Amino acid sequence: MKINENYLNLKDSYLFATVGRKTAAYKAAHPDREVIRLSIGDVTRPLAPVVIEAMHRAVDEMSRAETFKGYGPDQYCYGYEALIDSVKGSYARKGVQLASSEVFISDGAKSDCGNILDIFSTDNTVLVPDPVYPVYLDTNIMAGRKIVFADATEENGFLPMPDESVKADIIYICSPNNPTGAAYTVEQLEQWVAYAKKNDAVILYDAAYEYFVSDTAHARSIYQAKGAKECAIELCSYSKTAGFTGVRCGYTIVPEALVRGGHSLNKLWARRQSTKFNGVSYITQMGAAAVFTEEGERQIRENIGYYRKNAEIIAGCLDSLGIWYTGGKHSPYLWFKCPFGMDSWTFFDYLLENAAVVGTPGSGFGKNGEGFFRLTAFGTHENTERACGRIAALLRK
Ligand code: PLP
Repeated sequence: MKINENYLNLKDSYLFATVGRKTAAYKAAHPDREVIRLSIGDVTRPLAPVVIEAMHRAVDEMSRAETFKGYGPDQYCYGYEALIDSVKGSYARKGVQLASSEVFISDGAKSDCGNILDIFSTDNTVLVPDPVYPVYLDTNIMAGRKIVFADATEENGFLPMPDESVKADIIYICSPNNPTGAAYTVEQLEQWVAYAKKNDAVILYDAAYEYFVSDTAHARSIYQAKGAKECAIELCSYSKTAGFTGVRCGYTIVPEALVRGGHSLNKLWARRQSTKFNGVSYITQMGAAAVFTEEGERQIRENIGYYRKNAEIIAGCLDSLGIWYTGGKHSPYLWFKCPFGMDSWTFFDYLLENAAVVGTPGSGFGKNGEGFFRLTAFGTHENTERACGRIAALLRK
């Protein structure tokens, strides 16, 4: 028996463990000082009332033999039609028409980011942005694929564009981006679509933060770019849109028009899902189906508006200090250049020691993250305001 030795090539993920350890040590040494965490990547607002009501109804249905549900319908890989229709409705409002067979319900974007790789050969070269959401990188290291990087830097506003001299078969794009908060316009995505088509490549587009986009120039879906249905798979989630991080539901779009080597990727993915997946719980799917109703959208936008206000507070603070940053406008993340030329971990320690504020060092997301720092808008208004007051007082000195 042999293990998958590719796992030995993974770097230990020290980032959040080290942030946690340093924060705990500071708290132990300063029991009277209140520490504020602007490092939270999880949501904090509760589920919308329409979601809770729909889930309660679904629980009641499960309690009666006449309305009880077992495995989901296998027609669409265990996605219920009510949910698939609501996803299609949400896309239609973005100007994207989908067929029901193109929508696959999942238990979240993270699992599908890894699972989707099952349908691609391990011989493919993968293009991953740096800095990056670590899942794209690690899942490909596990599979032993060759990885090349697209440099996201201050010069390109952390939005790398295609480099014609690089050949890649699988391209990851995350917009609005975690960790940088930067978001592509539809026009910029059209350049990526042209590059993918020229290289016969497939784009894996992570739209987990699309509900934070606040204008029409920036893309909410890769399919807003012309021709994307022939070269892109989109992964999305109710986690950040509707606070489902603890409920678990998402969707992956694999267009019927996406064909490689004469084979439909939609059929391959349907085959993969019906073999290895048994669907998301009925109760969860009914809760998710309430999200894109008129009332659901109104309620989730209230929560998103709450986080957006936090992002504005942090952006205002950085603006007042004259610090360069990306994000915050179409994203709950703000990514800024560490002041005084500090590296990411030195700034982390400086901020914790002197302001009792915790953020996330950019270097943990890739080499281009060195010298940068991520703050998030997922806290409360009160804490965000107090943390920014402390940051401003410290850095203005
Ligand atoms: N994609 C990105 C870019 C994320 O930042 C996250 C979570 O933080 C996910 C996907 C995971 O989403 P889910 O909770 O649906 O697995």
